Amino acid sequence: MMLGALYSRPERDSERDSRMERVVDAVIVGAGVAGLSAALFLGRAGRSAIIFDGGTTRIESVAEVREYLGFDGLPPQELLARASAEVQQYGVEIIRQRVTSVTPRADGLFEVHHGHSVRMARTVVLATGLIDKLPPLSGLPKVWGRDLRVCPCFDGYEVQGKRFVVFGVPNRLVHMASWVWMWSRDVTVVSEHAFTDVDLYRLRLLEIEVIADEVTGLVHGGERLEALTTRKGKSIACDAAWIAADMVAASNLAASLCDVDDMGLARTDSAGRTSRPGIFAVGNAADPAAHLAHASAAGTNVGPHVVMYLLEREIERRTANQRNGGSADISRRAS
Ligand SMILES: Cc1cc2nc3c(=O)[nH]c(=O)nc-3n(C[C@H](O)[C@H](O)[C@H](O)COP(=O)(O)OP(=O)(O)OC[C@H]3O[C@@H](n4cnc5c(N)ncnc54)[C@H](O)[C@@H]3O)c2cc1C
Repeated sequence: MMLGALYSRPERDSERDSRMERVVDAVIVGAGVAGLSAALFLGRAGRSAIIFDGGTTRIESVAEVREYLGFDGLPPQELLARASAEVQQYGVEIIRQRVTSVTPRADGLFEVHHGHSVRMARTVVLATGLIDKLPPLSGLPKVWGRDLRVCPCFDGYEVQGKRFVVFGVPNRLVHMASWVWMWSRDVTVVSEHAFTDVDLYRLRLLEIEVIADEVTGLVHGGERLEALTTRKGKSIACDAAWIAADMVAASNLAASLCDVDDMGLARTDSAGRTSRPGIFAVGNAADPAAHLAHASAAGTNVGPHVVMYLLEREIERRTANQRNGGSADISRRAS
């Protein structure tokens, strides 16, 4: 056996650094509207930025975007393609790869690992979104994002007055049932949960029927939902179903870098700053209630704060350089 197969020499810092390309001002993880909006600001501010995305955005499960002024009815792929082209014209690179980890370095930079490569960044913006935890129901892929819905704000208008069924995790069910009731008076809840008297009273006031059973399948004719099937063998006819689903961070990057909540979403201040300096988080990666408009606004909002962070680091570097007897007028970047 070759000695090399037994002994692998540890990589030296200089060797590792040579694999890394030039330091960028910002790596943005996630090319949904939050990440793209941050990128647009940073690109136009003359900052070097790369966006990584290794999957699909949450909005791509629907056929048409709703509740996003100026884009109502647009296919999400078209919205994202248009936004991607806009940021690319300001020099932002988009790399279709998943970021596997981000390692903070002692010098304040971040190693961003993707595929078999590493990039170095002065800041990282997490725009990684979230995942709706859907139960394993038969027929789900056909109707998810169409007649199986998550919020009437997006598409309640399209099915108002129709037969609604609501099911899902107990802690969000009563809120969801009474919320969708504002779009239709024909609402049924399917759940085996033992609701409190207060909850039952609220549902009764709104004439919302509760069926003590568990949804196991979705029956569709073509692309349209026709009924839900239950564990007790019932078939409940309906036009739209609303699922109260748990949500969880789409990536564990935030949890590995900064303070997170019980969904794994980053805790941030109003500027998108996390508990770790240089790491920012926007959109659904920090706020599960963010719609497209909010996520986009959060991306735009974080831009100036990232630039301010970069400015302060540059001032610190120049101050240190002056103290060490150098000139403050240094044109080379701190890479
Ligand atoms: C069924 C449904 C319908 C909806 N309809 C509407 C609507 O009509 N109007 C509306 O305003 N909102 C709607 N929403 C909400 C909307 O989808 C979100 O508000 C929006 O997608 C949040 O944008 P974001 O940029 O924060 O995250 P996302 O759009 O989810 O983007 C996150 C991106 O990060 C990428 N990513 C994650 N981890 C990594 C990693 N480690 N490396 C690289 N990339 C990574 C993902 O692949 C993804 O592309 C809907 C949601 C659902 C579930």
